[in-house]
Amino acid sequence: MREMFDIVVVGSGAGGGVVAAELALGGRRVLLLEAGRHLTADDFRRFEAKANHDLYWPMRFAPLPGGDVVAFLSGKSVGGSTTINTKVALRAHERDIEKWHAASGLTNDEGQAFTLADLEPFYDRVEKVLTVRVRDDWGKCVHTARAGFQALGADLEPVHSYTDAKCMSYGSCLQGCPTDGGKSTMNTYIARALAAGGLELRTGVQAQRVLIEGSGERAHATGVEYLDAQGHLQVARGRFVVVAAGALNTSLLLLRSGLTNPAIGRHVGLHPVRLVHGLFDDVQDAYRVYPISAHCMQHQVDADGGFVLEASTIMDPIAFATTSRDEHGPLWGQRLVDALRAYRRWVGVLAMVNDENNGAIALDANGQERITVDFQASEHARLDAALDFSRRVLQAAGARQVCWTGIISTHTQGGCRMGDDPARAVVDRNGRTHEVQGLYVGDSALLPRTLSVNPSLTIMALATRLAMHLEGELAQTPAPH
Ligand SMILES: Cc1cc2nc3c(=O)[nH]c(=O)nc-3n(C[C@H](O)[C@H](O)[C@H](O)COP(=O)(O)OP(=O)(O)OC[C@H]3O[C@@H](n4cnc5c(N)ncnc54)[C@H](O)[C@@H]3O)c2cc1C
Ligand code: SF4
Repeated sequence: MREMFDIVVVGSGAGGGVVAAELALGGRRVLLLEAGRHLTADDFRRFEAKANHDLYWPMRFAPLPGGDVVAFLSGKSVGGSTTINTKVALRAHERDIEKWHAASGLTNDEGQAFTLADLEPFYDRVEKVLTVRVRDDWGKCVHTARAGFQALGADLEPVHSYTDAKCMSYGSCLQGCPTDGGKSTMNTYIARALAAGGLELRTGVQAQRVLIEGSGERAHATGVEYLDAQGHLQVARGRFVVVAAGALNTSLLLLRSGLTNPAIGRHVGLHPVRLVHGLFDDVQDAYRVYPISAHCMQHQVDADGGFVLEASTIMDPIAFATTSRDEHGPLWGQRLVDALRAYRRWVGVLAMVNDENNGAIALDANGQERITVDFQASEHARLDAALDFSRRVLQAAGARQVCWTGIISTHTQGGCRMGDDPARAVVDRNGRTHEVQGLYVGDSALLPRTLSVNPSLTIMALATRLAMHLEGELAQTPAPH
């Protein structure tokens, strides 16, 4: 007999983990396909190189004019990037959501422009599951940086975070949390759904394409073709399919499944980030705190500069050694040796910049992915202003040397943005592709415009909303016999 699920979900991160677990806990038969392994707190050690191998996708790069690159990071294990992220849990700013309707014509269930209020019940639910709390237990390094903010007439506030009292402030969030104090979809939503029995999880499997039958308006998704852990091609059938493989992989999977909407893979937002490090005279141990417990929101909206700074952290040693640069170029030779010898005395701020969603991912003639980035003058101005402010903060705090990284994207968003207008959006207001019945997008690819804050809470809120919509659809659609 052919195996049939109510829902097949590809990807178990912020989006897929929530959709799959919400539906399974509601009594639906759900199959969750995940390319990475199912690793848990017992497996997590602060071994940076091993974690980079076991818990991350190989880093992707997009070229910038002048020979530099943007580096893209994302997680690859059950829980996706939530397993290796820093757990900052922020709701979007209302100005962020105002950009959505303008970008793609997105409306709410009443047909009015979509607003922050439309997300609030879903934020409430996610925050409860993830036990979101305020982190005002700042380490010495945060107070060091704060003096610099205050000297410039700004200040730091505590962040909200999905970490509970088991967080021992080890600082190894990027290698997976060894105490389970850091929440992910793996140790919350998915763990509960597995324990309750409605969820089937297949790991080490790589979705190849969504199976689509019929054509034109009758095109509908019937399942997913995937390579199992032994490399054999398998088929999983479902009444509905949700693709939640992370912004870049979701766009690629839709393209590889034969969808042709020209908006697929376009309007990708990078939420570009730079870490800026300052060297202080005394030991700061910025690697041994909960990494991001404070932020400066003074420049959050575009009119005020369009960037947010988070404090205080330091990259792990390999990342620090391989990415640091200053006005003389990359740290190298004796300068690098000196910087690393002083590792315990560096304090970093993370500068995240509002962007205009001009990135794109596409397949070339050979089926290979190509990522392009096209920063506009306004984005360059924000990137420069964020770097300049970060440097001045650290110098005002007493740093005797400052260095910084190139541009990184850990908050990649868009590529299958939602909106009412099929000419500008890949999926409708419920996440269903405009092109294929029964095929939904359930992750960061949905966001019509980049947020000015860390996006995972919003992705999880949208995923909760999608799960509720799908529950309604399932209730109305008779199950096949
Ligand atoms: C280092 C780092 C730190 C971050 N810190 C924060 C933070 O503090 N706060 C915050 O809000 N956000 C943070 N983020 C961003 C946040 O984690 C992501 O925006 C969010 O997890 C994206 O959700 P997603 O579901 O789109 O993708 P992901 O969470 O990345 O999940 C996608 C999943 O799909 C799987 N997958 C991909 N392709 C396939 C395939 N073909 N078949 C099967 N499975 C597949 C992947 O392995 C992955 O598990 C951070 C990200 C990183 C990388
Ligand atoms: S800082 Fe807290 S949440 Fe992060 S890895 Fe350590 S114990 Fe876990």
